[in-house]
Amino acid sequence: MTLKSKNAVVTGSTSGIGLAIARALAKEGANVVINGLGDEGEIEKTRAAIESEFGVRALYHPANMLKSDEIADMIHHAERSLGSVDVLVNNAGIQFVSPVEEFPVEKWDQIIAINLSSAFHAIRAAVPGMKARKWGRIINTASAHSLVASPFKSAYVAAKHGIAGLTKTVALEVATHGITVNCISPGYVWTPLVEKQIPDTMKARNMSKEQVINDVLLEAQPTKQFVTVEQVAALAVFLCSDAASQMSGANLSMDGGWTAK
Ligand code: NAD
Repeated sequence: MTLKSKNAVVTGSTSGIGLAIARALAKEGANVVINGLGDEGEIEKTRAAIESEFGVRALYHPANMLKSDEIADMIHHAERSLGSVDVLVNNAGIQFVSPVEEFPVEKWDQIIAINLSSAFHAIRAAVPGMKARKWGRIINTASAHSLVASPFKSAYVAAKHGIAGLTKTVALEVATHGITVNCISPGYVWTPLVEKQIPDTMKARNMSKEQVINDVLLEAQPTKQFVTVEQVAALAVFLCSDAASQMSGANLSMDGGWTAK
């Protein structure tokens, strides 16, 4: 186990990629703080399962990624309860698909807040502790959309390009403090976020569900396969290892070859 005695906060970890990352870090011995929206009973089951399966402490913090004060409180709560935040994974994200001229203003604001600004607020709160302990790993879940665009996803693509820039900037600032900052850019991963955008994409592009899956989603990925949440989580674990201590400021693609095109 490579992360024994380390403590991790993973935002947006009640489902999908975040949950897989939280579980993979716990499997390596890290205590974890999970976060995200969802049914209270289901979240408690998820939390308790991490504790019992991996023999670590698992806490839940309900910080809403729209609220800077709640995000800072999540980091400080983790530091008080576990002793430190050594690994921070900024992963929470939402999607909305619409032509730019019809894009609801409040959706734009939400996506920029959740997919981009929340990472800034969490990093801002976590870096002083990491600097004091001279060790830290910050991993941001970006996207193939941090490197290339798709139509009808203006807010998401803008936020993900932003997170790639934030990753590089903070990596430079903390480089001499034993802290690395990287982002992972998955292509399409089969999670609720992808499933939920299918109906709107059907509408925006006037397509059937099968057409959206094969002609829009998998069309982007030369391998013609979805990435799995476990594959993304394995990369996050690697980024926390000593072997990755000289990797910083990187934007790591895991997209079946999408951005090679
Ligand atoms: P998901 O919908 O399964 O998970 C999103 C998580 O974010 C959930 O835990 C949800 O509760 C949480 N969340 C949403 N709004 C929140 C808020 N206001 N406050 C706190 N938590 C909130 O989706 P996913 O596919 O696992 O997405 C995770 C990350 O991966 C996102 O940043 C997404 O952009 C990115 N990503 C996903 C894919 C993909 O194909 N699924 C590809 C590239 C990048």
